[in-house]
Amino acid sequence: MITMSHVEKWYGAFQALHDINLSVRKGERIVLCGPSGSGKSTLIRCVNHLETYQKGEIRVGGILLGNQAKAIDAIRREVGMVFQQFNLFPHLTVLQNCMLAPMRALGIGKAEAEDRARSLLARVKILEQASKYPVQLSGGQQQRVAIARALCMRPKIMLFDEPTSALDPEMVKEVLDTMISLADEGMTMVCVTHEMGFARQVANRVIFMASGAIVEEAPPGEFFTNPRHERTRKFLGEIL
Ligand code: ATP
Ligand code: MG
Repeated sequence: MITMSHVEKWYGAFQALHDINLSVRKGERIVLCGPSGSGKSTLIRCVNHLETYQKGEIRVGGILLGNQAKAIDAIRREVGMVFQQFNLFPHLTVLQNCMLAPMRALGIGKAEAEDRARSLLARVKILEQASKYPVQLSGGQQQRVAIARALCMRPKIMLFDEPTSALDPEMVKEVLDTMISLADEGMTMVCVTHEMGFARQVANRVIFMASGAIVEEAPPGEFFTNPRHERTRKFLGEIL
């Protein structure tokens, strides 16, 4: 579903991604980890064109992601994204947050958008908050709304960028449980997270990045018990 080949990205003179080769198949669940500044956010933001890349090739669902607006729109319809800082629209209710993109970007009617939003809010167990504004919700609740909002576009792939790192510890579990249930339903997922319990339970592959490059990738069993590279061992030593 996602193929990155020889992708290189610069911010001005600074090279943030070096020769990234990665393919994600349908139904796979990838956990991406690595030290701060290693390029994890940059990598996943390139997948839906929140960042541009300068060399190599990214394909999503067979579509080449270049600078063509049509390809970018097509890919953004297929790829949902959830950020560390929820990014909900503060002036819209929970329900309106979930209805906006399907109406604007997919052109679906109001009644259908509302049905869809309500059923996904129920799925993330937050339907009773539908008429509240984001500021009236806890961080964990806001993040579950952000997940429901992304799912309202019926994406084929979900990208998560440290979805739990801005949350108080007691709210981390409710968000991880939502992500686990999504994984159980077969969603293709790429998750930047340092929640290694989640990685063990859910990931098919764990990818470790350092200094803008993929250093190591392995199934979680192997990754945690037998990391091959010194940098991976050092990183795991620091976070586990
Ligand atoms: P963190 O764990 O802190 O979120 P990360 O692995 O997600 O880190 P990125 O945010 O992808 O790292 O950043 C990779 C590198 O690119 C860093 O050195 C960062 O300073 C640099 N960088 C990121 N965004 C920009 C930008 N807009 N302009 C210039 N440099 C940037
Ligand atoms: Mg980041």
